[in-house]
Amino acid sequence: LISEAGLYTASDQIIILSPENVDSVLFNSTAALLVEFYATWCGHCVAFSPTWKSLARDIKEWKPAVDLAAIDCANESNRKVCTNFGITGFPSLKVFFPAYSSSESRGFPRDVRGLRHYIIDKLEMHNEAWPPACPPLETASEEEIDNFFQTNNVKLLALVFESKDSYVGREVTLDLFQYENIAVRRVLDTETSLVSRFGVTDFPSCYLYNSSRHISRLKVLNEARTFYSYALQRLPGVVRTGKPQIPITDLIKNSTLQEWRSTRVYMSDLESALHYSLRVELSGHISISGNDLTALKKYINVLSKHFPGRPSVKSALKTVDSWLQQQKGTEIKYSDFRDVLDNTVDAVLPEGVQWVGCQGSQSHYRGYPCAFWTLFHVLTVQAKEMDHSISYLEVLQAMRGYVSSFFGCRPCATHFESMAQESMDHVTSLSAAVLWLWSRHNRVNNRLAGDLSEDPHFPKIQWPSPELCPSCHGLKKTGEHHWDQEEVLTFLRNYFSSAHILMDYLQ
Ligand code: FAD
Repeated sequence: LISEAGLYTASDQIIILSPENVDSVLFNSTAALLVEFYATWCGHCVAFSPTWKSLARDIKEWKPAVDLAAIDCANESNRKVCTNFGITGFPSLKVFFPAYSSSESRGFPRDVRGLRHYIIDKLEMHNEAWPPACPPLETASEEEIDNFFQTNNVKLLALVFESKDSYVGREVTLDLFQYENIAVRRVLDTETSLVSRFGVTDFPSCYLYNSSRHISRLKVLNEARTFYSYALQRLPGVVRTGKPQIPITDLIKNSTLQEWRSTRVYMSDLESALHYSLRVELSGHISISGNDLTALKKYINVLSKHFPGRPSVKSALKTVDSWLQQQKGTEIKYSDFRDVLDNTVDAVLPEGVQWVGCQGSQSHYRGYPCAFWTLFHVLTVQAKEMDHSISYLEVLQAMRGYVSSFFGCRPCATHFESMAQESMDHVTSLSAAVLWLWSRHNRVNNRLAGDLSEDPHFPKIQWPSPELCPSCHGLKKTGEHHWDQEEVLTFLRNYFSSAHILMDYLQ
């Protein structure tokens, strides 16, 4: 997004520097900070900005040890800051360690993997300014491992066996350091005594060692960083710092717990989302006009065409759609719209909400936003299956309009709108629409992982997990994780298909 704010927005998880915050951010930080000095008019900076954003998502777990920032030196008010740091060309990187500043670098890698390695190299070069939160990255010896549980208060030690030049062990250590009850160390293939004691034959490979001196190999789809980190973060007993396991309330235990964890789409969630949006969320608007009215019309129109509901619900939605299309004025009153609902949707939709697949472990988790995402994944897939949509963007535009005009969570709407502005127009097929929503939802998951709003029983993951869809996950030649988009599309078309929606728990 290129705007007055420069190349980055608050949704990018990059600290945006300005004369007002630069001192407090740079000099009070306990994390090492990588600052990109750029100019909006510089083509190389524009070309580099997606990499900087991807890096921010990729190393989100490293934040307390390593954080990313950026400053737009083309913005006149920032010029003094850039001059003070002696910036002469763009883009430039500077690494600020707590109590130490490195020199400017213009010869840095231009890809995410290279930048990760660059960060680790910089950290290791500046041992004396080690960020306090940063875990040790050096290799572990046999002696350290043998005494590990006497000196460290953890239940599990993950050992990444690898060659000297591999970064996997250090990356996984950083990926896991915000998690409790587990520590990660790298062991070199030259530690022959440990290698033969544990029977290690593959490098890299990851082993779990516990205080009873039991050792087992970590089972993963691929021997690579993302797969190790993902598997270790989900091990029983491993929890994110500050996120204790919350007991499941009795209410939930007595109702749908059996199905609760099964990852399926339930009609009850979809109908509850309709109930909430039509009768609760929209009721906050006494009259609806202008862009809001257009958004409402598109939303109902898309629902009337693609909602894969019971015949009575579909027919009710069609009646509401016809009524709305007939409203040629510039404004409608919600009370009039409500009267139409009374005679249509109200006769067929349940009167309240019943979250099933979207039920949280506590009442303030999940629910409506979960069902709202699910609804739109279903609608994009339905539009793809019907394949006679006038426009491949109609479902996404309906979602964008609804979120912008009515979705009660306003920060959510701002973030979603900035993602839509950035790339929704690049969608040029119904398949691409399905994938766009999937990938943007994953961006939101990445941003919210570890957030207060995250249900500890449903951690935000890059979805679908390797267990749910093994073929969706692959490896590039470099060892980087890779989503196989064809496989993801096949998976989504199956998972969100009308044939797989469960009708249980409908009121
Ligand atoms: P959700 O993220 O709601 O996902 C629901 C279900 O969809 C999951 O259980 C899973 O089965 C499936 N799923 C997960 N990821 C994907 C994917 N990538 N593709 C397809 N299916 C998937 N909350 C904030 O705190 N800040 C925000 O800025 C914010 N922005 C939002 C923007 C929008 C448009 C919406 C609808 C919600 C937003 N939320 C935001 C809410 C947040 O995204 C979650 O919906 C909420 O925290 C509930 O999370 P959940 O665990 O139920 O899973």
